[in-house]
Amino acid sequence: MYKENSALLSNQKNNFSTEHVQILIIEDDYEDVEILKTLLSQHKYSLERITHAQSIGEGIACLQSPGHNIQLVILDLSLPDAQGLDTYHSIYAHCSKIPIIIHSGNIDESIAIEAVQRGAQDYLVKGKFDGHLLSRTIRYGLERHQQFLELQCEKQKLQTVTAALMASNQQLEAMNQMLGQLAIIDELTQIHNRRRFDEVLWTEWRRLAREESPLSLIMCDVDNFKAYNDAYGHPAGDRCLQQVATAISNVVHRPADLVARYGGEEFALILPNTDLKGVTRIAKEIQDAVQKLNLRHNTSKISDQVTLSLGVASMIPHQNVAPGQLIESADRALYKAKTLGRNQMQVSLPDLESAIIEVRKASQKAKEFCQSLKLAHYSLTHSKRLEKSQRCQTAQLGW
Ligand SMILES: [Mg+2]
Repeated sequence: MYKENSALLSNQKNNFSTEHVQILIIEDDYEDVEILKTLLSQHKYSLERITHAQSIGEGIACLQSPGHNIQLVILDLSLPDAQGLDTYHSIYAHCSKIPIIIHSGNIDESIAIEAVQRGAQDYLVKGKFDGHLLSRTIRYGLERHQQFLELQCEKQKLQTVTAALMASNQQLEAMNQMLGQLAIIDELTQIHNRRRFDEVLWTEWRRLAREESPLSLIMCDVDNFKAYNDAYGHPAGDRCLQQVATAISNVVHRPADLVARYGGEEFALILPNTDLKGVTRIAKEIQDAVQKLNLRHNTSKISDQVTLSLGVASMIPHQNVAPGQLIESADRALYKAKTLGRNQMQVSLPDLESAIIEVRKASQKAKEFCQSLKLAHYSLTHSKRLEKSQRCQTAQLGW
C-alpha cells in the first residue's frame, strides 16, 4: 500500500501541468463528451490524453487495464448500466486512488453533497459551468487528492515506524527480563544466586521484624566435594551440584521460600514464617532427598555416596540487628556439623541467639545513651542559662 501510493504520488507530481493530465470521461452522451473536450482543449488540456468510456463497464475495464496513466475521472451519474450514486460507488470501488469529478444533469443538491461526502472531488451540473470552472475544478481535485495521498503515505510511514518501535520495545522488554533473570539466577544450577539470596534475606528480615515472626535459615555443604571433583572430574562435579540443587529445590514448595547457591558447593535456604521445629524438619527432608540421589562418591571419607552437612538457625528478626546474625548462626551450626564428622545436621541454639540479640539491643541503647550524654554535656558547658540545665535532665530522664 505504501509503495503503491508513493509510486502514484511520484507519477502525479511529474504530470500535473494541464497538457500532461490524463483524463477518463465516462459519459454516454456524445454531445456532452464533445462539450467537455472543447472546454478542456480551450484550457490547454491535450485531447490525446483524454480517454472516453460510454458505460460503467467500459470505464472499469479502462481503469483496470495494465499500465494505464489515468489521473482523473469525469463521471456522468446516468449511464446505461448504472444510475445515481450507485454509478459513483461502482467506479470508486475500482479507483479509490484517482480523483473523481461528478458530471451530472441532476441538480439535486442533496446528491451533490452526499457524493462529495463520500469522496468525490466536486459535483458539476451539466450546462452550469464554463471552461474556467472546469479547469479549476480539475486542478484543485488533483491537488487535493495528491495531498490526501501524501497524508496517507505519511500515515503509513508512521504506522510502519510505530510497529517497528513496538517490536523493538517488546524485544527490549524481553531482553530486560532475561537480563533480570540472569542477574539473580546461578548459571550452573539454575537456582537463585548469592545476590538474590542477600536481597531476599534483607527483605524478609525487615518484614518479619515488623510481624515479629520467625525467620529460618539452612546452610548446607556437599561433603568432601573437592575429592569428588578430583576423582570424577569437574564436569561430573557440575552435574552433581545440579542434581543436589534440584533435590533441595524439590523439598520446599512455598512461594516465599528461597533456595540459592551460596557459593561453590554450598547452598542456602531462606524460610520465612518458619520456626525451629519446621526448619529442622525441612533440613532432614533435604538430607533424605540427597541420599535418594544415590550419587556415588568413593573418595568421600564418610560415605560411599554424596552427602550433605547442614547448619540450621531460626530467630525472630529485630530492626536493630543485622540479618548477618542469622547467617552467622547457621554458619556456626554448619561448622559444628562438619567438625562432628559431616553428613549430619546441627541446630544453632535459640537461647544463645536470643541472648546475642538482647546484648546487641542493649549495646544499641548504650550507644544512644552515650550520645545523649555527649549532647547534654555540650549544652551545659557552653550555656549558663537555667533552661539548658533542665534540658540536660530531661534528656537523661527521657532515656
Ligand atoms: Mg448520461
